[in-house]
Amino acid sequence: MVETLTELYVIRDYEAADGVEMLARQGCNDPDAEKWCAEAEGIGFSIIYEGELALCAGLIKERKGVAQAWALYPLDVGKYHIDPKVARDKLYELMAEHNFWRVFATVRCDFPAGAKYIEWLGFEREGRMEQNEPDRSDSFLYAITDKCLRCGKCCYLTYYEGKGNTERTSKKCQNLTEDNLCAVYSNRPEWCMTAEKMVELDLLPEGCGYIKEI
Ligand code: SF4
Ligand code: SF4
Repeated sequence: MVETLTELYVIRDYEAADGVEMLARQGCNDPDAEKWCAEAEGIGFSIIYEGELALCAGLIKERKGVAQAWALYPLDVGKYHIDPKVARDKLYELMAEHNFWRVFATVRCDFPAGAKYIEWLGFEREGRMEQNEPDRSDSFLYAITDKCLRCGKCCYLTYYEGKGNTERTSKKCQNLTEDNLCAVYSNRPEWCMTAEKMVELDLLPEGCGYIKEI
């Protein structure tokens, strides 16, 4: 899938060749790199800036509901001026589409800019992993957890378009699939509210995982 974000850059599905190219630009000569790049195919995206590969990132499934996040970018990634919101939106979209409720990542302890960025994405620091890096230095473990329990109850609402109010109903949204996922998640209609908005309007149903957070 290809989405045009601005006139300057587009976002499309990640391909193994993107990872190979990015690692070569980083000067990586790990013999396992090509295999890893192929394994990462499937749940990821690449950002192309004026025809040049600028960043690729994605998720690798660990087990049901749990994935590891990864990202590859050139050392001079700053020159592309990629809006970090793009990566954040895409991350949440991939989590919802593939039904991951926990995504984790590690960041070198001596890379404060990486820690700052991942915290901005919504990850929370869970601890320190000693000697986790290839040079035996430590990493921080980060994770982001989706509070949604996939009960689908919030998709049973009647929306009075243009009137700005809603009502709970027994009729489910036509876009809700049998496994309680949204069939149009990346392209939801304007009236569809985020869970955060529902918290604000006190619309979330009893038992919703977001309620426990507040
Ligand atoms: S009601 Fe809450 S837990 Fe249930 S699907 Fe909606 S956001 Fe998720
Ligand atoms: S559009 Fe998707 S998220 Fe929104 S109410 Fe319908 S099924 Fe739920």
